Amino acid sequence: MTPGRPVPPPLAHAVTPADDHDPEIARDPASRSARTGLLAAAYGAVSSDSGLVPLTLARRAPKEDDVEIAIEFCGLCHSDVHATRGEWGAQSYPLVPGHEIVGRVSRVGSAVDDFAPGDLVGVGCMVDSCRECESCLEGLEQYCENGMTGTYGAKDARNAGSVTQGGYSSSVVVDRRYVVRVPESLDPAAVAPLLCAGVTTFSPLRRFDVEGGDVVGVVGLGGLGHMAVKLAKAMGARVVVFTTSESKVPAALELGADEVILSRDEDAMAAADRSIDVIIDTVAAPHNLNPFFRTLRRDGALFQLGLPSEAMPPVNPGALIRRRISYAGSLIGGIAETQEMLDFCAEHGVAADIEVVRADQLNEAYDRMVAGDVKYRFVLDTSTLQAPAEEADA
Ligand code: NAP
Ligand code: ZN
Ligand code: ZN
Repeated sequence: MTPGRPVPPPLAHAVTPADDHDPEIARDPASRSARTGLLAAAYGAVSSDSGLVPLTLARRAPKEDDVEIAIEFCGLCHSDVHATRGEWGAQSYPLVPGHEIVGRVSRVGSAVDDFAPGDLVGVGCMVDSCRECESCLEGLEQYCENGMTGTYGAKDARNAGSVTQGGYSSSVVVDRRYVVRVPESLDPAAVAPLLCAGVTTFSPLRRFDVEGGDVVGVVGLGGLGHMAVKLAKAMGARVVVFTTSESKVPAALELGADEVILSRDEDAMAAADRSIDVIIDTVAAPHNLNPFFRTLRRDGALFQLGLPSEAMPPVNPGALIRRRISYAGSLIGGIAETQEMLDFCAEHGVAADIEVVRADQLNEAYDRMVAGDVKYRFVLDTSTLQAPAEEADA
């Protein structure tokens, strides 16, 4: 536990649907106390326009391969806003978001020998996948051909088809294969955003083999964007930030950017013609990519990471063809790559710049995130969640 951290509310036990089908509990009801799931305090949405409200979750008892985690911090990703507000289509409610989870192991299942109570661990955007398809076997579980199981709002095929609930909560239970080790040398609150924003930007930088001498452009200086700056700098690249916010120019330079360009300034964009090798575009809203293609050198690439809910303006094929440019996408990162990213961050002393918020500030934090008023990631301190109710909402 972080020094000086208040003690979280006591953990209550719950009887989860999984317990009802547990033959050992049926045979010996006295074994229930050690084998029942926890009631978790949480914050989530009950409809697309409800905002976030206090909720209580019934977490399953750890099965043999499961790790039960007492969550300490959870980052607030823009995807959480898109999802809870139904911007990506129909959701099942109640929905507890949060996929930048850091906490301590509280219990492990009987077959778990790689994690033990007290270990500092993390969980990112997925908690399961088929484990059999080509992508899963290559450690690219995020591209599972049968569909990975997201950390929240996803049908959990291996757990009675229940719907997964995320990290704005006091605990979570996750199969050991989808849990990563968090280096103790980094501030756990500032590590939380690495679990999504960090790996999502690390993965395309690695795919492009970014190294010293390369020029990396980062479009949008939010949660993902600021991690792209830090990671690309740590890889030795020269970094150019493109922002729509004049107020972020000094902050971008402080973060380590070598140059900052206001992307709405046509002259500044024209002056950047053919100067960049790879662009990491993190903008969360529709925007015109053609001016950014013109800043790329021959054989350059633009990775689009932002997933706006509305259509993007059309891409001009000529802009791609004339310089053999690749326009690519990239989805988070695999589990092994997430561990590699965390180890890289520990080695280079990289973590997110954060603003820690209480549970009762979550709605305000969402509005500020949408308005671009965050430097650069909000992180929920789960010790500020109120104690769980006596009965679960989900
Ligand atoms: P964020 O913190 O809100 O940052 C987005 C940035 O985009 C803003 O800070 C802003 O930067 C820029 N922007 C420009 N115009 C905007 C507009 N009209 N509305 C909103 N932002 C605008 O968001 P984030 O958490 O980094 O996430 C960015 C996007 O990536 C989201 O769409 C999210 O869902 C997506 N995402 C994708 C993956 C993946 O695997 N591909 C993973 C996580 C998140 P400036 O002020 O500097 O212009
Ligand atoms: Zn995310
Ligand atoms: Zn798979």
